[in-house]
Amino acid sequence: MGLAEDGGLLLPRTIPRLDAETLGNWQEKNYADLAYEVMSRFINDIPASDLRALVNESYANFDHAEITPLAHYGGLHILELFHGPTLAFKDIALQFLGNLFTYLLKKTGGRMNILGATSGDTGSAAIYAVRGKERINIFILHPHQRVSPVQEKQMTTVLDNNVHNIAIRGSFDDGQAMVKQIFGDLGFKSAHHLAAINSINWARVLAQVVYYIWSCLHVRAHENVNSIDFAVPTGNFGDIFAGFIAKRMLPEGTIRRLVLATNTNDILARFVKSGDYSLGPVVQTSSPSMDIQSASNFERYLYYLTDSDPKRTADLMRDFADKGQLDLSGYLDQIKRDFTAEAIDEESVKATIAEFYKEHQYILDPHTAVGVAAALRQQQPGVAMVCLATAHPAKFAAVVEEAIGQEPPMPEALAGILERQARCQVMDADAAQVQAFIESHDGQSR
Ligand SMILES: *Cc1c(COP(=O)(O)O)cnc(C)c1O
Repeated sequence: MGLAEDGGLLLPRTIPRLDAETLGNWQEKNYADLAYEVMSRFINDIPASDLRALVNESYANFDHAEITPLAHYGGLHILELFHGPTLAFKDIALQFLGNLFTYLLKKTGGRMNILGATSGDTGSAAIYAVRGKERINIFILHPHQRVSPVQEKQMTTVLDNNVHNIAIRGSFDDGQAMVKQIFGDLGFKSAHHLAAINSINWARVLAQVVYYIWSCLHVRAHENVNSIDFAVPTGNFGDIFAGFIAKRMLPEGTIRRLVLATNTNDILARFVKSGDYSLGPVVQTSSPSMDIQSASNFERYLYYLTDSDPKRTADLMRDFADKGQLDLSGYLDQIKRDFTAEAIDEESVKATIAEFYKEHQYILDPHTAVGVAAALRQQQPGVAMVCLATAHPAKFAAVVEEAIGQEPPMPEALAGILERQARCQVMDADAAQVQAFIESHDGQSR
């Protein structure tokens, strides 16, 4: 479920606390087993053996045995979250969500048509989450000839019958507006069981909590510290919100602070620094998955900021919708207990990729570089620093090449992708055409 019936977001009633003994028992667990343990603290309506199977299946398609391995360079711990099928961190949550949807639909006998728009990067993660799954169709809109060739092929070379790529003659905003319009057609929405797979789904946050706990269990094998900071490149406040939940689950002080790293689109960094949460224009950067101004998971954090007051949260969200601006400076002490922040400009992103490569021969993608640049500014002795590496550099080869003078090596998953057979419908930016297309394909996935 995305939005709750009252238009708000869902959260667990309580956040479970993990004690040192539990964590000790988890130390040797592999990633999938740890994921099961963490998730089962929040899930009481799926039998244990089923949940185990779901989790195992979700991480079976990763190309590294540790799923999210830690690399160690220059006093930083790089948490590689890009070993899933589409080489970006969204796989970690979406692979699980795809399996979970299928499992629940089988139980209820229902079906689902997922509809979404992408600017290029996130569509493939959603497609790979549900390709070939029973009871689910997926329709992903991307702007025709305005995504990179690799991004396009990552989506359109998935030939499963339930996958439908639609290239819109228009911009990403056109695609998004069409999706909004179609979801607004409530009769159509319910007749065709339309669903979104966006970042407000709680199950996504939950799946992301796991790798924070994983990191805390494994960093100490490399660095003898009591406290850990995480640098998190952020756009939608999703990944870093998972860190906030993990922080509250772990014993006090295990995670000291979350370093919120934005690109030039700095609304969240301004919020942490001064309490000013005000919309600016969206600027295009080299880290496109973070070119966002209104962060959909921010509302969840507001709830905790207001001392778990749903009414105050709703009032603040309404205020923000009206004015595009909130003054939260009264909460600064509390905000700073959990977060620090840096906004990283384009020049620094490229310089960070270049310097990190020169010093360590390790290639950062531009999103990861935003986090690493912030980490280097905030690093303190005696506290470990984990940087979340959210995408494989080959996904953003052009920017990387500009920074280091050579293309990053192509991982196996992308080798030869430009030559592979593809399938895609090109359409005008007209919601009615997309609706007719959905109508004609609904129910054909079984
Ligand atoms: C989505 C994405 C992010 C930002 O994640 P949020 O959950 O929106 O904070 C960062 N890097 C990459 C590569 C992404 O795809």
